[in-house]
Amino acid sequence: MKNNKEKNDLNSETKKEESAKIETISDFSEDKSDALYDYNYLYSHKDIDCHLPLLITDLGEKKLYDSLSQCNRCGYCETVCPTYMLTGRESISARGRNQIIKMAMTGKIKNKEDAQESVFSCLLCGACQSACYAKVQTPEHVLEARRGIKNYSDTFGVKFGMKILLEKPEALALWIKLGFLMKKLGFAWLAGKLGIYAILGMPAIKEAQETIDNPPLKFLTDYLKKDSDLNPETCTAKEEKITWAYFAPCGPNYIYPKVGLSTINILKRFLGKGIFLDNFCCGLIAYNYGKLKDAKKFAKKNILLFEKYKKKFGDFIIVGDCSSCVAFMKTYEQLFADDEDWRLRAKNFGQNIKDILELAPKFEVKELSGDAKEKLQLGRVTYHDSCRACHGQNIRQEPRDILKKLAGDKFVQLNESDWCCGGAGAFAFTQKQLSKKILLRKIKNIACSRAETVIAGASSCLMQINVGLKNHYPSAKVEHFSVFIDRLTSATARQNDRTTENSNKN
Ligand code: SF4
Ligand code: SF4
Repeated sequence: MKNNKEKNDLNSETKKEESAKIETISDFSEDKSDALYDYNYLYSHKDIDCHLPLLITDLGEKKLYDSLSQCNRCGYCETVCPTYMLTGRESISARGRNQIIKMAMTGKIKNKEDAQESVFSCLLCGACQSACYAKVQTPEHVLEARRGIKNYSDTFGVKFGMKILLEKPEALALWIKLGFLMKKLGFAWLAGKLGIYAILGMPAIKEAQETIDNPPLKFLTDYLKKDSDLNPETCTAKEEKITWAYFAPCGPNYIYPKVGLSTINILKRFLGKGIFLDNFCCGLIAYNYGKLKDAKKFAKKNILLFEKYKKKFGDFIIVGDCSSCVAFMKTYEQLFADDEDWRLRAKNFGQNIKDILELAPKFEVKELSGDAKEKLQLGRVTYHDSCRACHGQNIRQEPRDILKKLAGDKFVQLNESDWCCGGAGAFAFTQKQLSKKILLRKIKNIACSRAETVIAGASSCLMQINVGLKNHYPSAKVEHFSVFIDRLTSATARQNDRTTENSNKN
């Protein structure tokens, strides 16, 4: 048996050795020996600002290492992880990613590139989390690992893009319009050449615009700011009780204004009076690109807007129509885990955020008549679960119920409806091959359903499925939930108006 002195010497030697090994996916330049068990190894202390102080998990608040340790390697997540299912590679499965990040944190990974491939090929879809009994937050682990990679968020483009989005959103709008105008005039390549999107830190928009059929030259906020009914400043408070405020996510604002206009129509039709929040970006782009300080700024701006109008109007809900943004805003609390005051305000804000999809039970609708279906040329309809709706917010049944109610037997279920479409923000452009394979499986399932219309609730899914359908199954089209519900319920409203007119005449 070793005596105590020998044991202590051994421990301190081991500690020194481990300390020397901490050259992981983050580039450490200082001695971390004091911080070994006190903070997450992945971080160099100078980088701590770009990491979350702790993760809020279903099993309580955890530091990254402890949260990773919740994974018991059971493998239940493997059969739902698209990147694993299509490649069979453990290193790009949910279980593998958790192990690799943990190994990186303890200095056991020699090849940084292997770790990078593992974390950058994740869709952040959350399917693994839904399948996991321990609710291990693999997507959050992956994001934390990405943030630990040197220069991940430090490029000029990302910094400039966030600055302009935060301080001069109107300049960003002009810039994007210029790109869209060039596309309309047949010079899409010129916008790319001029680096219009790359300079904004959003090279993915350059690729994305090529997938958009009708790039708008008038954005959603251009319409909403002119609608005096929705103006919170001129709306006379208390006696005109409002029940909702519309939050315009970037997708509907810059790419799909019709989505936002349809959402407003539905909200007015079924929930009564409301306002337009004239919000800032939700901050998800900043969050995903490791700019946590900027993500907090976006969040604070939106929380302050909510609090301002809450004072004026009393209680109301904030409604968004892109599931990615809505799911993120519901978790604003995570951004302020170490700030008591803002944490509480963020939690309160999050509790009042609603996805238009989950409000469906509040819409009183009945099945369209055979005539109406014929007039609308309503074919088979199916529903694709956007990842951030089903895995991020557990919204599955509500949209299906209303689609079934309206379309009757025209509504059909989609096999593997919660299989990611491969869009996943910029994934479609950064991981092209993998993304195409994932998309192809989605399109095959759509073709098997023989649907003519596919309903989705997130902008990224609209873009990605649109590309897949155009290339492989052009007899179907993808439509946002709000556009479809507005189209069908306005037809019913017209039908009801005509019936009332006729009975009045009689
Ligand atoms: S992430 Fe969850 S489901 Fe996957 S191996 Fe770990 S514990 Fe099992
Ligand atoms: S988030 Fe999606 S892609 Fe990433 S590990 Fe989980 S299931 Fe796989």
